[in-house]
Amino acid sequence: MTDQNAKGRILALCGGVGGAKLALGLDKIAGERLTVAVNTGDDFSHLGLHIAPDLDTVLYTLAGLADPERGWGRADESWNFMAALNELGADDWFQLGDKDLAIHVERTRRLAGGETLSAVTRDIGARLGLSAHIVPMSDDPVRTQVITDEGNLPFQHYFVRAQCRPRVKSIDFEGAETAALSEEFSAALTDPNLAAIVICPSNPYLSVDPLLSLSGVKEGLARSPAPVIAVSPLIHGQAVKGPTVKIMAELEIEPDALSIARHYGGVLDGIIVDVEDEGSVGPLRAMGLEARAAATYMKSLSDRIGLARCVMEFADDLNASKT
Ligand code: GDP
Repeated sequence: MTDQNAKGRILALCGGVGGAKLALGLDKIAGERLTVAVNTGDDFSHLGLHIAPDLDTVLYTLAGLADPERGWGRADESWNFMAALNELGADDWFQLGDKDLAIHVERTRRLAGGETLSAVTRDIGARLGLSAHIVPMSDDPVRTQVITDEGNLPFQHYFVRAQCRPRVKSIDFEGAETAALSEEFSAALTDPNLAAIVICPSNPYLSVDPLLSLSGVKEGLARSPAPVIAVSPLIHGQAVKGPTVKIMAELEIEPDALSIARHYGGVLDGIIVDVEDEGSVGPLRAMGLEARAAATYMKSLSDRIGLARCVMEFADDLNASKT
């Protein structure tokens, strides 16, 4: 890496599990130079608690607290609260582990006391010992609504309660037109010392689009002198996890890296595809994008760090080609 990237700041746009894997790799190489702007379109109020699933996934992942098997919540979890809730006949379709419960209770308490989601997230990140800056995309509510053949479903009803079974017709981000960017997201987007903006391998439709739908984000990405690089969440036409490919089929979109590149449209300078999809590098370049192939399946910590290094080397080359 050049001196520029060794010092430059990184802004990552991130959803939950897939995005958090790369965010962890970036955190290991950049630490406090990393800002992760996280989707809050999945947030919802449940049992009187403010739940922010993607923020929690990123916080837990970077703090080393995430459950590696389940993909959400905390490791070494117990479920006494859920069992007791079930005995009372309350809604139990959304699982809340005993340890996990603490973050929802504390966040809800502080939000009710008038603090912003940004401030609460910043403090929790510091308490968990994080040096990277984890920031919600907005402090205003944006709520993802999935328009399906079974009606309009709030995100968690689609994703968790209905287990993504309904057929998706379109997706809305309620509140996105008026929601302001969080101060830290906005500042990161216009930071003159940015070495790269990374669109993590999250679900483009459910996890990244809420960030891109906020007013000023696409313009900010297009204007930024830092290269904007996406990592494709698809490997050989398959999602590693979750409904990305199912949704693409329902929206009649080919499940490949070209579709991902087209989806992000004018905001991208470069895209990284998996080595299994090396054949798409030529067609992507023909679209006018810089593209390269790398090992994007992140099983181990060293896979995550390796991919983060690839992204930053790519950014380095793109920065060098501009000068
Ligand atoms: P969610 O909000 O928890 O569903 O998580 P995200 O939206 O962040 O992630 C879902 C996407 O991450 C899916 O499209 C997966 O294919 C992608 N993903 C998960 N793990 C990996 C990985 O190791 N490599 C790549 N390239 N994509 C991944």
